[in-house]
Amino acid sequence: MRILVAEDDAILADGVIRALRQSGFAVDWVHNGPEADTALEANQFDLLILDIGLPRKSGLEVLKRLRGRDSHLPVLILTALDGVNDRVRGLDAGADDYLAKPFELAELEARVRALTRRGMAGSPTLLKHGALSYDQVGRVARLNGEALELSAREVSLLEVFLARAGRLVSKDQLVSHLCEWGEEVSANAIEVYVHRLRKKLEPGGVRIVTVRGLGYSLEKHDPR
Ligand code: CA
Repeated sequence: MRILVAEDDAILADGVIRALRQSGFAVDWVHNGPEADTALEANQFDLLILDIGLPRKSGLEVLKRLRGRDSHLPVLILTALDGVNDRVRGLDAGADDYLAKPFELAELEARVRALTRRGMAGSPTLLKHGALSYDQVGRVARLNGEALELSAREVSLLEVFLARAGRLVSKDQLVSHLCEWGEEVSANAIEVYVHRLRKKLEPGGVRIVTVRGLGYSLEKHDPR
């Protein structure tokens, strides 16, 4: 799950981003309206957290432009405490929810969970691959019904593999899924994460096969 945070207050953004990454989300950060436009046009996100008071172009304009492109991306707007008009205009312009500053991070996280759930309403929430099942809402993977203990990074990797089960996943795809802007995740690090994930999946006959020089493929052992 990838979230775009558009917020010019660095201290606030830092706290929000830390909390979201802790919860296993991949987070990108932009600081002004035009950067938000560019990021939204160039990338696929699962949620936008949008400050209404953005420099150079307001969050409201960013939101109108987004909805003008027929995007159904869930949007949570951040407004000033006394910004009743901002809230009303934001919701009218197609925001899904709002939070008034200052807010508790726990509340932000609860709303993010609710919005990302809603965003997935049209897609199946339980993915299956052999003995492996993955609950996209709770982000819980099970092997033969037993919950697997996975790190946030391993969960992110598993999401990529399941989305392309049985097909080739290049190392570049894994790197770009895992690394947020400005944060380097090396190909070597990917190998370590894949190795760990592979060991956890193997007992259930689910294999991550290395395709030499190209990447990996998620396969399942066929018992026949
Ligand atoms: Ca602001």
